[in-house]
Amino acid sequence: MTSEDIPGAPPQERRLVTEIPGPRSRELQRRRIGAVPPGVGSVLPVYVTEAGGGVVVDVDGNSLIDFGSGIAVTNVGNANPRVVERVRAQAGRFTHTCFMVTPYESYVAVCEALNRITPGDHEKRSFLVNSGAEAVENAVKIARHATGRPAVVVFDHGYHGRTLLTMTLTAKNMPYKHRFGPFAPEVYRMPLAYPYRWPTGPDDAGPEAAAQAVDQITKQIGAENVAAVVVEPIAGEGGFIEPAPGFLPRIAEFCRENGILFIADEVQTGFARTGDLFACEHEGVVPDLVATAKGIAGGLPLAGVTGRADVMDRIHPGGLGGTYGGNPLACEAALAVLEEIEDGGLVERARRIGDVMLPRLRALAERHPAIGDVRGRGAMIAVELVRPGTKDPDPGLTSDVARRCHEAGLLVLTAGTYGNVLRFLPPLVIPEHLLAEGLDVLEAAFRDATA
Ligand SMILES: *Cc1c(COP(=O)(O)O)cnc(C)c1O
Repeated sequence: MTSEDIPGAPPQERRLVTEIPGPRSRELQRRRIGAVPPGVGSVLPVYVTEAGGGVVVDVDGNSLIDFGSGIAVTNVGNANPRVVERVRAQAGRFTHTCFMVTPYESYVAVCEALNRITPGDHEKRSFLVNSGAEAVENAVKIARHATGRPAVVVFDHGYHGRTLLTMTLTAKNMPYKHRFGPFAPEVYRMPLAYPYRWPTGPDDAGPEAAAQAVDQITKQIGAENVAAVVVEPIAGEGGFIEPAPGFLPRIAEFCRENGILFIADEVQTGFARTGDLFACEHEGVVPDLVATAKGIAGGLPLAGVTGRADVMDRIHPGGLGGTYGGNPLACEAALAVLEEIEDGGLVERARRIGDVMLPRLRALAERHPAIGDVRGRGAMIAVELVRPGTKDPDPGLTSDVARRCHEAGLLVLTAGTYGNVLRFLPPLVIPEHLLAEGLDVLEAAFRDATA
């Protein structure tokens, strides 16, 4: 064990003992093809036996550097000891009663914590569900009920889930919507202030995109028909697009002026990921409702809806809930995550990760004109790849670089409406030597892919 190793986690090293995927993973992949439909994909079909700190270990004994965190879920590290301990103890007491049948304290404690840590110091209420999509869908249900209005406004490049309503809210056809229609009614899409691709440049993107959205909402829908605006404070699957400054505050202000509820989808951005507890804090935006999931419980399935008490308290008893929502194992895990974020200084760790990654990626972009944009905050960082000298997306190079990273033992994810974004979501507890080594691997992958 080196000084950088983490108690309870596998050795914090990149170690390749077979090709990637190795023979045992390939054997399991053959079994899977006979059992699981291809509609459920996997970024990298190495079959995992163990993970923790900054690594994922596979059945062939390879140890990969983790720049994915299971899509921004294991912010506190996989199998985080505090999470494991609390879940283990809870599993020995009881595993389920259904909060709607006989409640338990940990559910209430998680809701109290969400009410305390989400943006804004107004009175709030929270309840718990199982997935990000379920949280977003419930937030919309509540907004429609509370306002008595039908319309929901979303944005270009948005991703909100795979259920009927949330895939309707989602912008991208392939793979999320293709041939899955007809879609839910009363969903309207507005432009997003995408700094890199805004026609008049990044400086004007915020005010111009907000003005266009306000104009379209007013003219095409009528503000008085809109229940809610649903927006990711940083678009995740859409390519880690940080809306240009001023965009979110202006949209939030327009909502306030018109009795429209502002729903922040913080499913991917929440729980210290961006160097703030929630990404809305960056511009001081206080949402009426917040959907949370991914990072909330260290990998156990849990999601939350938090909102203004006066809005949430309008829903009649029985109007909200679900059999598994706020499962006691998941609630214990969430309480451990919240302790870990505070005690482990994970907000600061996320900022540090950004401070290490961004300068190295900017230097890489100097050498590789295919890197059109480097962006992100905290430990939610991306590069957008284009054909040199243009802004034409280059999804082919993107998947080539990702494949080379995977083969060299670095787990990276892609994203983006045009499939041309490499995104980096390391666990916030990743040791610095692995962060640096992961960036070395990425640099080599760029060098080889563009040679
Ligand atoms: C992942 C994600 C969702 C959907 O969450 P699931 O748990 O997969 O249903 C919704 N919104 C955003 C922003 C996400 O990143």
